[in-house]
Amino acid sequence: MKSAINPNSIQFRLTIGMVLVSILGIGSLTGWINWRMRQLLVESHKDNALMIASRLGQDVDLYGETMPISQAMAMAIDYRKQPDVAIWVTSPQGEILAQSDTLSMGSWQINGFAQALLEQVSGKLGLEVIRLQGRHLVTCSSPLEVNGQVMGELYVVDDITEDQETLSRITRTLAFSSLLAIGVGAIATAFYTRQSLAPIRKMNRLAANVSTDNLASTRLEFDRAPTEVQELAQACNMMISRLSAAWDQQRRFVSDVSHELRTPLTLVHGYLQSTLRRCNNLSSPQREGLEIAAAEADRTIRLLQDLLDLARADGGHLRFQIERQPLEAVVQEVLEMGQYVSDRIHADLEPVEARVDRHRLKQVLINLMDNAMKYSNDNEPIRVGLKKIGDRAYIEVSDHGRGIPLADLTKIFDPFYRVDEDRSRATGGTGLGLSIVKTLVEGMNGTLKVQSKLGEGSVFTVSLPI
Ligand code: ADP
Repeated sequence: MKSAINPNSIQFRLTIGMVLVSILGIGSLTGWINWRMRQLLVESHKDNALMIASRLGQDVDLYGETMPISQAMAMAIDYRKQPDVAIWVTSPQGEILAQSDTLSMGSWQINGFAQALLEQVSGKLGLEVIRLQGRHLVTCSSPLEVNGQVMGELYVVDDITEDQETLSRITRTLAFSSLLAIGVGAIATAFYTRQSLAPIRKMNRLAANVSTDNLASTRLEFDRAPTEVQELAQACNMMISRLSAAWDQQRRFVSDVSHELRTPLTLVHGYLQSTLRRCNNLSSPQREGLEIAAAEADRTIRLLQDLLDLARADGGHLRFQIERQPLEAVVQEVLEMGQYVSDRIHADLEPVEARVDRHRLKQVLINLMDNAMKYSNDNEPIRVGLKKIGDRAYIEVSDHGRGIPLADLTKIFDPFYRVDEDRSRATGGTGLGLSIVKTLVEGMNGTLKVQSKLGEGSVFTVSLPI
């Protein structure tokens, strides 16, 4: 599991998308609810202030019938009083004629609040929402008429600070719950997307393991995956089938062509050899020409044989006759052949027995020794070692030649791959040798490894199970 957050992943994009949409949706909804509630709150308090202002004149009228007008005003104000609502009446000259107890209450006296309020609203007619000393107030003032005569100004001030604070608390709780809900939603979305994308990750792993060896047997199966993934898997399966068919066709083609060409070419080679042996009357240029033709025919026959071997191995048609063998005898046979053409091959062999195909192992060693000789100078020694470590036998072919560049080390086992320098050299190689060696070693359940340092030499190690 890759724990690092990948900004390009579908999982990350969906989660971020969900978070953004939620913030936008829930944020706007919360904002709208908050705005609407504040509006309703102010409106209800305005209505209350207006109602008090409009009824107070009638109350004073009523009480005025039985008592003096100043007492009637005090009675009417007392009758209409409400907690957090201050009511007072001023004369046209600005003197206070009557007022509710609220104005003289402790909370309205802090920092001279009542006095500041009287000064702020005096002379202002109409309905307003104001802020004074951090408090929110709805103010309503209108002329007070009694028996059709203007007696002065009536002021009604409603302190809505506490309601506003309650509303702010509700808003904060709402915002916090929304953020919590968005967080939980984001985690749930990330988890859900991860689960939904699991088949795609599985498919990715399967596809990454597809190689020419398992092409024909690879099938992506997703019975319980979402429809889109099943469709993708089906398309991939069809593509793999087509690739497999094309690969088979190419292998058959190479195998058929190599086979068809090898037979006549062997005839030509044989004919050239016998002509060279039998004809004593050939001129020197004629002999030279025939010798070049014979050498080229021989090289091409070997190339075709290599191609045929590779095509057969790829198709699983290469047969191995695996038997328990004393390896030192097999290695010794190849060494003798090598020592016949060069005296710089040295051996260090331990007696080891292993299950191998004698003929194929010889082919492997001939190739490795041939390379060691080709890619090192005539005066540089070549060492062939055989030893047993644990339950494996190790055959090492090492040279002190020019080595292989690090970048080419993994590629030299690919068919037709040659290190750049060798493509232009006349070493006569085809680039197929090591891929055949690898195929043969793996066919005997072994492994082939190479270690090399540029300018110092290379060591090829064949490891075989005992
Ligand atoms: P080739 O027919 O060219 O020898 P191989 O498949 O045997 O093809 O080898 C592939 C390439 O690996 C060679 O062309 C050469 O560049 C490099 N190579 C193989 N063996 C050695 C070695 N012992 N020392 C240096 N380079 C080597």
